[in-house]
Amino acid sequence: MALSAIDIYKKILPKTNCRDCGYLTCLAFASMVVSEKLPLDKCPHIPADLLARYQPELMDQYDANKWTKRDPAQDALTWARKRAASMALAALPERIGGILMDMGDGPCLALPYFQDTIFIRENSIQTQSGLELNRWEQVFIYNHLAQGGRDVPTGKWKALEEIPNTVSKIKSMREHVELVLQDRFACRVSELQAAADRLGGVTQNNPGAAADVARVFQPLPRIPIFLQFWDAEPSEGFAAKTRLLFDETIVRHLDIESILFLSEELTRRLCEKPANC
Ligand code: SF4
Repeated sequence: MALSAIDIYKKILPKTNCRDCGYLTCLAFASMVVSEKLPLDKCPHIPADLLARYQPELMDQYDANKWTKRDPAQDALTWARKRAASMALAALPERIGGILMDMGDGPCLALPYFQDTIFIRENSIQTQSGLELNRWEQVFIYNHLAQGGRDVPTGKWKALEEIPNTVSKIKSMREHVELVLQDRFACRVSELQAAADRLGGVTQNNPGAAADVARVFQPLPRIPIFLQFWDAEPSEGFAAKTRLLFDETIVRHLDIESILFLSEELTRRLCEKPANC
């Protein structure tokens, strides 16, 4: 039976919280032994017979991957792949766009993604140039596959706060998207226009809103995002302002966490320096 942090605390450590190991408490040290494979002898107060008995037991435990620190990205990816595996590949183009292909190693879905095409297989997602998407991006794409929607955009735009059950994400959208874009592009509208051009953002009429930049991006075939940006007016004391709008059908294709992820990804791509700089 694997040793837990509590087992180590109760059976092995002196429980004096003396801090000689560098941790505030014996229990904190025990957690690090279990999850980070910290050697027991980093506590100088464990009797030799207990060290000799339990350190080999812990080594076996590490070899068996019991209790050691979880890798959240890998856990999320494994879960998302399982979830998406139940989706019939043949139905995906009608539901989310893209085309089915066979490139000699079984069927895959070729799906437009920002300015690229990604090739989605059961266990990998690669760009046109053969690069594997990072694991969080893969989780996002597999979740999109699994969401099950088949609606096409209606052209009715909604801000995040108008979408049900998004209260917990409003602050993140503000801090990770809107403020980032405002800081980066305030008084630099031409740079935002150039970045939007690079990402294929299409100019949108926005009567009434009169934003300095109004572009619609198409990161995925069924998912447009409308960016509005009002530049700062320092002489009048106005800060820059940004708003992202989503088609009302987005919740059929993405969960709330994924909407935020995609917004952050759009922000990251807008803010990154062009390749020739
Ligand atoms: S050195 Fe040992 S006894 Fe002291 S706090 Fe760390 S684990 Fe506990």
